Amino acid sequence: MTPQSICILGATGSIGLSTIDVALRHPDRFRIVTLTARQRMDELAELIRRTGARRVVVPDAAAAQRVREGLTGHTGKVEILQGDQALADVASDDHTDVVMAAIVGAAGLPAALAAAQTGKRVLLANKEALVAAGSIFMKAVRESGAVLLPIDSEHNAIFQCMPGGGQGSIGNGPAKGVNRIVLTASGGPFRTHNPDEMAHITPEQACAHPNWSMGRKISVDSATMVNKGLEVIEAHWLFDMTPDRIDVVIHPQSIVHSLVEYDDGSMLAQLGNPDMRTPIAHALGFPQRIEAGVDWLDLLKVGRLDFEEVNLLRYPCLDLAYQALRGGQGACIAFNAANEVAVEEFLQRRIPYPGIAAILEQALNWYSARSNVPVVSIEQVLELDAQARTFALAACQSRAA
Ligand code: NAD
Ligand code: MG
Repeated sequence: MTPQSICILGATGSIGLSTIDVALRHPDRFRIVTLTARQRMDELAELIRRTGARRVVVPDAAAAQRVREGLTGHTGKVEILQGDQALADVASDDHTDVVMAAIVGAAGLPAALAAAQTGKRVLLANKEALVAAGSIFMKAVRESGAVLLPIDSEHNAIFQCMPGGGQGSIGNGPAKGVNRIVLTASGGPFRTHNPDEMAHITPEQACAHPNWSMGRKISVDSATMVNKGLEVIEAHWLFDMTPDRIDVVIHPQSIVHSLVEYDDGSMLAQLGNPDMRTPIAHALGFPQRIEAGVDWLDLLKVGRLDFEEVNLLRYPCLDLAYQALRGGQGACIAFNAANEVAVEEFLQRRIPYPGIAAILEQALNWYSARSNVPVVSIEQVLELDAQARTFALAACQSRAA
């Protein structure tokens, strides 16, 4: 078997590192050729040594210099490319078979889209890319024949529970016999927090997820349940389900990763320990199963599985995400962009935690007041994304003032 060449976009992140861990367990199947990162250049140099990657993409000349210094004594030849265009280039050229799209935020869209347009095997962790440009992205997948595999644990679980083990379940319309999909949500760190004390929540508390260890942005999104909202929108695009056929239920143990309900009353679920190496290994090996390094699930230790209704007063952002989905592509762009800005402002302690939901609501109102903005091309998506960011930043600043 010729090993497949992997390009990992966002290699130094939580998903990037888990991908490296899984791929290195299977040197007969995979060769890690390309790594990209925006921060932590010393760590990137270490990863080049570990993986034997032959090229990297970094943001600028200063970063390239730091990588070169970090590679002192390294014998392999490494090409160091710079800038955003290089991200799209490495994701789509002939040196790449498989792309792990694990950049955080809409910033990852152009490179993920380039991979989809050129018919790669695309492992999509970067949910914001689908939220911002779902129809453009899915059209690219259909037209190029790219194989799109979801990495988000919920969507990977749904994929596995779809008819035929998922084969053909993405990009071909709603699956026959499926009535509804149910996304599980852990509820994050504030599931039982006193609602009157939300204003005092710190970035450290918001980033301390009870079950998963993840990047800071998605950790805050999990606390607010914006993450589940983005996932509802992601599920809509991947599985072609209308919003009324996508439900969310709280499951604090994060063992059942999501479920598919069939017309005959059956419900299929995928279970596993909360470790992203499982969905990553599933997508890397699909349709075969490969070892992931994950502990076996001990049902007796888990003991019980609980399910609770989502209280939208506690998690107003989930309701806002459904509103965005019903409002169309432009509303989803505004929602996602405003969230990226608001989360960063919260992490920098410039707005309080409840300010995130308030900014999202303002951004949806801002968008609906100026609807009819066409978003059919990627340029239009990026333009609206930029305008929504400007609006959201100003809204954050006026809250802080
Ligand atoms: P992270 O913050 O840990 O890593 C992000 C990576 O992207 C880093 O390598 C960083 O250098 C790079 N990056 C950040 N901004 C960039 C930019 N503007 N341009 C180019 N590169 C940039 O994030 P993560 O937790 O690994 O999440 C990555 C994506 O996967 C997100 O979209 C997230 O929603 C999704 N996801 C993550 C998890 C998880 O368990 N961490 C689970 C499901 C989905
Ligand atoms: Mg998820």
